[in-house]
Amino acid sequence: MKILILGGTAEARELAGRLVAEGHEVVTSLAGRTQEPRLPPGAVRMGGFGGIAGLCAYLRAARIDRMVDATHPYAGQISFNAVQAAQETGVPLVRYMRPPWEQQIGDNWITVETVAEAAAALPPNAVVLLTTGHTGLEQFMERDDCRFVVRTIEKPAMGLPGHAELLQDRPPYSLDGEIALMQHKGITHLVSKNSGGLQTQSKLEAARRLGIGVIMIARPAYGPAHEVTSVEAAMVALGLAS
Ligand code: NAP
Repeated sequence: MKILILGGTAEARELAGRLVAEGHEVVTSLAGRTQEPRLPPGAVRMGGFGGIAGLCAYLRAARIDRMVDATHPYAGQISFNAVQAAQETGVPLVRYMRPPWEQQIGDNWITVETVAEAAAALPPNAVVLLTTGHTGLEQFMERDDCRFVVRTIEKPAMGLPGHAELLQDRPPYSLDGEIALMQHKGITHLVSKNSGGLQTQSKLEAARRLGIGVIMIARPAYGPAHEVTSVEAAMVALGLAS
């Protein structure tokens, strides 16, 4: 069976490894944004397809039997395109993504749909730990009545204004470290995407323990697909395990 994995995540690499080990023909597609991406087992293709039409053309030309969307939960465009292309070509689509974090007792979350709504949800004088990466940074920076600690892995292209400081760091983050950071900086609000996974979830527990409000930006809506949250479940959904 020939399977296209829309990748760029650890989940996609893990699934490719399993499928290749079981003798399936796998092509992982990467957007081509990262300079030296970690390559999965099996074949790899790079770069956009050219929208829904391009993806449909690729699925037909490469004679793909199954497609797995294992992209990052916030890569909303390619996930939307995958749903449309699956409907148009009839190639079955499985979406394999880590489960979102769920609100727990003691949490104080406001869930919003967009960056603009998240920026608007901050009360005046909030001291914000901003963990949403580079996307929409300008919209948060317009809130000059708040102060920001902007935590990113790579330095943002835009210079930060006086009411924001940059904290370059990379996960995983420990619970003790997150608590110490929030206390030291006097954080009153945390802004986060709902990425799910273990690497960055300690910020949520720290916020819970310290009574810090969380503005959670929900995952984009991609459209219907058979959704799974583990390699094993993906194998079953692909009809390759029972
Ligand atoms: P996006 O906004 O959903 O996609 C924008 C365009 O990039 C798509 O329309 C598509 O171009 C192309 N593209 C995206 N993923 C592709 C893939 N796997 N293979 C071929 N083309 C792809 O995506 P994004 O947020 O820029 O993310 C790009 C990639 O980085 C994704 O594969 C994702 O898994 C990975 N990633 C993203 C994040 C994040 O926070 N967004 C984090 C970690 C990894 P065409 O329309 O021309 O086909």
